[in-house]
Amino acid sequence: MALKRSRVIPLPSPFDFRAPEPVPGCDKCAALARDYRAANNPYNARYNPSAATDAAVLLRRHLKTHGEES
Ligand SMILES: [Zn+2]
Repeated sequence: MALKRSRVIPLPSPFDFRAPEPVPGCDKCAALARDYRAANNPYNARYNPSAATDAAVLLRRHLKTHGEES
């Protein structure tokens, strides 16, 4: 077997929490969710676990602006 291709091993994020659900129809949610998914995917050129964490935090923070049901 040739060792030509380097193996891509998906590493779990050190901050392994799930990104919150984006609100359907909200552009900001969609953009943050897209950033999160891109940064959280080891096969994506934009893979960057700390950026994924940032995006998840930003999304969570942004979701609060939608108003929490209380
Ligand atoms: Zn939103």
